[in-house]
Amino acid sequence: MLNVLVVGSIALDDVEAPAGSAKSVLGGAACYFAVASSFFAPVRAVGVAGNDFPQEHLDFLEGRGIDVAGIHRADGPTFRWGGRYHESLNRRDTLFTELGVFEDFEPKLPEAYRDSELVFLANIHPSLQLSVLEQATNPHFAAMDTMDFWIEGTSEELRRTIARVNCLIINDEEAQQLTGESNLVRAADWIRALGPETVVIKRGEHGALLFDAEGIFAAPAFPLREVRDPTGAGDSFAGGFMGALAREDHRDPQAVRRAVIYGSVLASFCVERFSLDRFRNLEGAEVDARFEEFRALTRF
Ligand code: AMP
Repeated sequence: MLNVLVVGSIALDDVEAPAGSAKSVLGGAACYFAVASSFFAPVRAVGVAGNDFPQEHLDFLEGRGIDVAGIHRADGPTFRWGGRYHESLNRRDTLFTELGVFEDFEPKLPEAYRDSELVFLANIHPSLQLSVLEQATNPHFAAMDTMDFWIEGTSEELRRTIARVNCLIINDEEAQQLTGESNLVRAADWIRALGPETVVIKRGEHGALLFDAEGIFAAPAFPLREVRDPTGAGDSFAGGFMGALAREDHRDPQAVRRAVIYGSVLASFCVERFSLDRFRNLEGAEVDARFEEFRALTRF
């Protein structure tokens, strides 16, 4: 079994959705990723929290076995994000983004994290993502995410960072924006030509597409009767995907495809409740059972 490092946002979120709302709840890409990954492998997290960040959230992460020595507490307010979902849940508006201590975030890997084996660079400035990669002494497999803000504002730095990772995990709109290709197969070709041999394009309720040397693999999203809060689904997908790869300790095409399904499993649990609440009492046996349900869903 390999270990997993994640670097990204630690947040307090306000979320409004048709099913209800939540205020000042645990969020942030690094938290969703770390918790999802922790179902499979040892996880180390790097991020920054303000002095208003409740200790109980760090206790929850630690309770999941996550190494939080890399979460630095800075003097100032925690990063806060607010979002409102439309009736369809496919669309959301960002209501506010208050960077707080995240504004001056300069990720520094504790000495003990430098030998991390799987590395996930969540959505932060591409130059910071690159600096994390450079601090890691021997990453076996590095993956990253990004967002429209960096695609628009820092495209040069972003391309340079993408060229250095093994895998890019992004959503369909970002893939189209990044590549200028509306066709996702061509968008994936474009990204793979830049460097990463593996590309995962997330398509929300339509599932995810994997592109690698073996070809294309399509995973559906799990058909849920009720989705309460889609926030963090993408990061939970990435956490399940990387965690499963770490647990298997090899990355042949079949292992990567199983990891895509584990990513889809963790994303499907994430959206059943607000914030990270569904993960609080999620059992490994439930994860395995849903993995088998995925098998049944796609076997014919
Ligand atoms: P997702 O639903 O996968 O886009 O992830 C949502 C999470 O990302 C929320 O918990 C937010 O706190 C966090 N987030 C939102 N905007 C940003 C940003 N600009 N940088 C880093 N994290 C963000």
